[in-house]
This record gives sequence, structure tokens and C-alpha cells, in this order.
Amino acid sequence: MSTRPRIAVHKFASCDGCQLAFLNLGELLLVLAAHVEIVHFAEAGPVNPEVPVDIAFVEGSITTREDLERIQRVRKNSDHLVTLGACATAGGLQALRNLASAREWSAAVYARPEYIASLDTSTAIARHVKVDFELWGCPVSSRQVLGAVRALLFGVGPLEERDKVCLECKRSNIVCVMVTRREPCMGPVTRTGCGALCPRFGRDCYGCYGPAEAANTESLSRRFEGLGLLPEQIARRFLGMNAAAPEFAEAAMRTRR
Ligand code: SF4
Ligand code: SF4
Repeated sequence: MSTRPRIAVHKFASCDGCQLAFLNLGELLLVLAAHVEIVHFAEAGPVNPEVPVDIAFVEGSITTREDLERIQRVRKNSDHLVTLGACATAGGLQALRNLASAREWSAAVYARPEYIASLDTSTAIARHVKVDFELWGCPVSSRQVLGAVRALLFGVGPLEERDKVCLECKRSNIVCVMVTRREPCMGPVTRTGCGALCPRFGRDCYGCYGPAEAANTESLSRRFEGLGLLPEQIARRFLGMNAAAPEFAEAAMRTRR
């Protein structure tokens, strides 16, 4: 029997994009596999969801009754539980249903909505079980995933990136799209970790890494007003894949009041 630490990757309601951060490791995935035993990762092959593991990565949000039970089992079987990306960490884009009537939406979309057995809400994993570390992003990057695995294998907590995307722009000498092109950039309130990917290519950040530490959403909303955005347009800037993150949800509600 292998003595290597065991890893599992579990999927809940999500698009699978964060699991691709593992697969996109390429050759590094083979290096990783030499140091750990990947016991459950349905997208990559092994399927053993009930085996106890050292680290469980969880992608996706809780949206069904079955999810509510399964996440308890995942927690019970894991020494460390790490959320992978915006769905698992904040409820994801599908958490927009929390602001509306999920039943009305189902009735509008499906011919037989009575066959849809989902909860009225989409919620983050931390709302249901203890989470040891959260990886933000939509999707997370391979660099983040590898960094978290490495830190946990060394017995330390992974480095949490809480700075704002703006700081990454400044460090990389990226020209600010809000100042030079009047784009309503979410970088001033969004946590870093992506390498300021969007501003680097001349477009505004839309907040996919979730709220940064001490995010001043009120000030940014005023700045968006100055750029000519209407209240509903400002609210929608905050209502993306991290719509249910408290800082962004609160900012959207305040703007709509
Ligand atoms: S482009 Fe966006 S993220 Fe970069 S400095 Fe300007 S406001 Fe901040
Ligand atoms: S710049 Fe913003 S929207 Fe673009 S990848 Fe980074 S956090 Fe996500």
C-alpha cells in the first residue's frame, strides 16, 4: 500500500473549469503524481469518492439535497479541505438565483420544471462545513493549485493572496484602463492572483477573483458613477461569478436602493 499523501478532487455544481487547472499542469501533474496518490478525480480517471484523504479539493457549489449530504461525507473523509474557485468559495454565477425566484426561472426555462430537483439557492462550501483554505478565481490557475498542494504537503498554510489587482498592474507597469480608457474596471476591489490578466490585454477586470481584503466598494461605485454608469449598471458590475460574496452582494444591494 502507498504511503504517499492522498488527494481527492470532488465536483459539485460547476463548469469543471477549475479541475482543468489540475489537468493543465501537464508534465507537472506527473511530477505531482509521483509525490501524492490521486485517489479520486473523476475527470482524470480515478473514482473513489469515499476513500479518506489528506487533502480534498472541492469544486462547485451546493445546489441539491444530495450535495448537502455528500459535502458532509467529503469533510468527514478529509484532513484538509480546500475550495477550488468561485463556485465553491462564493456560490458561483449560479448564486444569482439567490436574488430571484429559482422556481420562476425553472418554469421559464424548462418544459417540465417538476423534474428539476434543485435547491432554491446556490451556496459556498464554507456555509455547510469547515473549509481549511479557499482558492478564489474563475477559474483558479494551475500556479495557485500547485502552490496550495506544496504548502499543505510541507505542513504549512498556503499563502493567501489578498492584495488588489491594481497592485499587480502597478508592479507590472500595466497601463490603467480605467484612467486612460474610462473602462469600469473592478480591479480596485478584486483580489489578485491572476497576474492582472485582463488589464494586461487592455480590458477591464470583471472581478472573477472575488473581493480583495478591505475592498472599498462604495468608493468604486462612486467612481463608476463618475464614468457615467447608471445604478443598475453599477450593480451588475458586482453581480458576476462572485455575486454572493458578501462584499459584492452588499455593494450591489446598496446601489439598487
Ligand atoms: S487597469 Fe484596473 S486593475 Fe489595473 S490599475 Fe487600473 S483600475 Fe486597477
Ligand atoms: S483581471 Fe479580473 S476578471 Fe481578469 S482574470 Fe484577473 S481577476 Fe479575473
